Amino acid sequence: MLAAHDGQAQIIAGGTDLVLQSQRGQCMARVMVDITRIPGLDTIEEREGYVTIGCQVTHAQIAASPLIAARAKVLQEAALSVGTPQIRNVGTLAGNVVSAQPGADGSLALLALDATLDVVDLAGNTRRVPVAEAFVRPDVSTIDPRREMITLIRLPALAAHQASAYGRMAKRRASALPVLAVGVVISTEQKTKSIAQRFGWVRIALGPVALTPYRARRAEEVLRGAAISSPAIEQAAQVASQEAQPRSSVLRGSREYRQEMVRVYVRRTLEAAVGRVTRDEG
Ligand SMILES: Cc1cc2nc3c(=O)[nH]c(=O)nc-3n(C[C@H](O)[C@H](O)[C@H](O)COP(=O)(O)OP(=O)(O)OC[C@H]3O[C@@H](n4cnc5c(N)ncnc54)[C@H](O)[C@@H]3O)c2cc1C
Repeated sequence: MLAAHDGQAQIIAGGTDLVLQSQRGQCMARVMVDITRIPGLDTIEEREGYVTIGCQVTHAQIAASPLIAARAKVLQEAALSVGTPQIRNVGTLAGNVVSAQPGADGSLALLALDATLDVVDLAGNTRRVPVAEAFVRPDVSTIDPRREMITLIRLPALAAHQASAYGRMAKRRASALPVLAVGVVISTEQKTKSIAQRFGWVRIALGPVALTPYRARRAEEVLRGAAISSPAIEQAAQVASQEAQPRSSVLRGSREYRQEMVRVYVRRTLEAAVGRVTRDEG
């Protein structure tokens, strides 16, 4: 149908972003192609070490999934913080990515999880896009919803020595985009079964502190191979705070305040993930 309308048609899933854009005159498509009833795209499954999420899967489905809770906790926590129950019931994770908001909760969790997207073009060819390469600037992703469709989101299932957490600061607990959000995934080296001693690799995704969801790579390097300790976590949080370049914003607070909050939330979220890995939870 997208091919038949040659750039004049656009995919619609939950419509929680697109309907508003259309009402504001920001959507030029003359035809909307509803993908929510195509069979087989609404499942969450584990296959060969990966969790796969179909493009129709909503934030509510993710929040309720035992598989996501066990294998990708950061995504469950992010999904639970999106909007309101009504928004979570229809809004999809794939739509969250294509909308490319710098503080999009689902996108931040996927960035921390190093997810990839299966994107099908009009000829039926599939390309695999790392989510880290999906964002261009606010409202613009590398996926063109007039000519391409995300069919599947794929993320490495976290193992017992790995853990994740999501931290979020907003003006209200519901229906408020984040002032700051942090997704963290850690991999650890364990000498005994129950106690993690060193970080292996760490991924820290932050938003909205840049034009796109963003990885605090210098802070990640601070923790690579480091002993798990409060001083190491505090140092990484400091570096993340220096690395982040939030702007002063009437809605979100001053640059200085937000930078300080990066430090606080990165520390808290890393601590939450560490607490989970030592208890052997995903
Ligand atoms: C009141 C309210 C509160 C909100 N709160 C939050 C919040 O707290 N956190 C947050 O992150 N977001 C929030 N949102 C934004 C929104 O709900 C999410 O971005 C949602 O996940 C978008 O998914 P959707 O299925 O509704 O996408 P749609 O609106 O249907 O589509 C969004 C974009 O994605 C494209 N698209 C959709 N599916 C595909 C696909 N499979 N392949 C290619 N392109 C596709 C569409 O063409 C469009 O460009 C809120 C929105 C509202 C209205």
